[in-house]
Amino acid sequence: DENVRLSLRLIRYAGDRALLVARDVSQLMRLEQVRRDFVANVSHELRTPLTVVHGYLDMIEPESMPEYEPILHELRNQSRRMTQIVEDLLTLSRLEAQGELPQERISLRSLLEALRREAVALSQSSHAVTTELIGKHDLSGSTKELHSAFSNLVSNAVRYTPAGGRITLRWESDANGGRLSVIDTGQGIAPQHLPRLTERFYRVSTSRSRETGGTGLGLSIVKHVLQLHQAHLEIRSEPGVGSTFTCVFGRERLLEPLALAEAP
Ligand code: ADP
Repeated sequence: DENVRLSLRLIRYAGDRALLVARDVSQLMRLEQVRRDFVANVSHELRTPLTVVHGYLDMIEPESMPEYEPILHELRNQSRRMTQIVEDLLTLSRLEAQGELPQERISLRSLLEALRREAVALSQSSHAVTTELIGKHDLSGSTKELHSAFSNLVSNAVRYTPAGGRITLRWESDANGGRLSVIDTGQGIAPQHLPRLTERFYRVSTSRSRETGGTGLGLSIVKHVLQLHQAHLEIRSEPGVGSTFTCVFGRERLLEPLALAEAP
């Protein structure tokens, strides 16, 4: 029956004996699909009314009613936040439904430079941003998705690092694989939070994070994008010292650098 989904587990024991455990997970998978569809539909339906609210709010001139200025300011902030949450939820739904991704050549030299410029712009030059390129390989994958995942890590590094801090963007590759790290000297994260950071809406300090303007979905998006590239995220952090977020790619994702055109 093509509607039945089984989860199979092979347990080897006592040398040459093995036990095959089959579990019917059809119902679980159907429920998971219902959840995904529901989130995608709700997000999609919220998009239009939010665009209208946002549009009308932008048309109001605060000078015409100065006494409402702070309220208007707050309404705009909140409607922008809601729009960002809806966009991030739609991104997650799209990633969950994503099949094959394009296999493009991503030059790490240009990517690091683009990310460096983003960090400088976001931090309004209040952080020292440096790049390090160790290893010549390029990366194979979806330029758009990987760039957005790395941008999320960069914007977190800026948001959770006080002015004057340092942000390092590092690519290291060798025959075994590649690692892209975003290293900051920011507030850091206590160890008990680390295993849950990539869950949707999980935040270390709710009020503080809201102020910084995030949606709580960034790391969840990063995790999904990396999964689609058979890669994973490693997080190391020490409160008060800083954090390192590393995207770890297997060697099958590495491309040898393009040979320079031979001189005639
Ligand atoms: P948010 O939009 O709240 O930043 P994320 O999913 O990107 O959501 O991150 C989840 C939480 O992880 C954040 O709310 C913050 O508490 C913590 N976090 C993420 N990146 C960093 C970082 N570089 N330094 C310190 N804390 C971080």
